[in-house]
Amino acid sequence: MNGELPPSQQSYVDTHCHLDLYPDPRKVMAETEAQRVVTIAVTNAPSVFRQTAILVKGCRYIRPAVGLHPELVVSRAAELPLMWPLLEETRYVGEVGLDYSETSQASRTQQLSVFTRILERCASYGNKVITVHSRGAEADVISAIDGDYPGRIILHWYSGPVRELQKAVQAGVYFSVNPAMSRSERGRRLVARMPRDQVLTESDGPFVLVGSRAAYPSDVPQVVVELARIWDVDPDQAKVMVRSNFQRLLQAASPA
Ligand code: MN
Repeated sequence: MNGELPPSQQSYVDTHCHLDLYPDPRKVMAETEAQRVVTIAVTNAPSVFRQTAILVKGCRYIRPAVGLHPELVVSRAAELPLMWPLLEETRYVGEVGLDYSETSQASRTQQLSVFTRILERCASYGNKVITVHSRGAEADVISAIDGDYPGRIILHWYSGPVRELQKAVQAGVYFSVNPAMSRSERGRRLVARMPRDQVLTESDGPFVLVGSRAAYPSDVPQVVVELARIWDVDPDQAKVMVRSNFQRLLQAASPA
C-alpha cells in the first residue's frame, strides 16, 4: 500500500492536510517529500478526490484520502454514492464527520445520516484510517463510533468538552494535534488529557495559520516540540512516540 513506510524512513506525521486547497500544491508536495512528513491529504468532496489522487501519485510520503466535509453535506450530499467506488482506491478517508457550530436541525440530521453511512461502508473494509471533524458535535461523533469500530478513527482538532474526550479515549480513537491547538491554553489542557499513545500530529493547512501564513506539513515538527513540553520529554522522544503511534495505528487495523 502506498506510503506505508518502515519507521526508519519516516520523519514526521501529518494526518490531516488539505493539500488541494493551497495556491501551489506542488510546492507543498515537494517540501513534504523532502522533509519526509508522512501526510494524509484529505479532500472535502468525492468529486475532487481523483484530482488529488493523480497529483500525489508517485509521492512516497503523501496519501490521498476521500472525504465529504460535514459543512458541505447539505450542498454535496448527492455526491455520496461517488464515494463508494473510491473507497476501493485508498485506505484513507477524510475529511468526514459532523459540524454543529452554526447549522440547523435539518442539516444536523442530514450530516448524521451521511456520516453514519460512511462509517458503515468503511466498517466493511475493517482497515480504513478515517480523519474526523467533530466541532460542536463531539457527543454524536463519539456515539457513532462506539467502542468496537472496525477501523481506525482519528479525531482531528478535538475542541470539545473533557467529558466527551474521556469517552473518545475509552473508544480507543487517536487525536491529531495541530499548531493552533498546541498554541492555545485550552488546546494544551485538552492535549494534556490525551493518552500519549493516542496522539498524532497534523497541520490542517491551509486553514490553520502559523503567524499570518497558512500552516504546512513542515510545521509539524514545531507541534512535536510543543507536545514534548506538555509531556515533559525531549522533542526527539516525542517525535518517536508520535511516529510509533502512527505505525501502530496502521498495523493494528485488521482486515474485515
Ligand atoms: Mn480540515
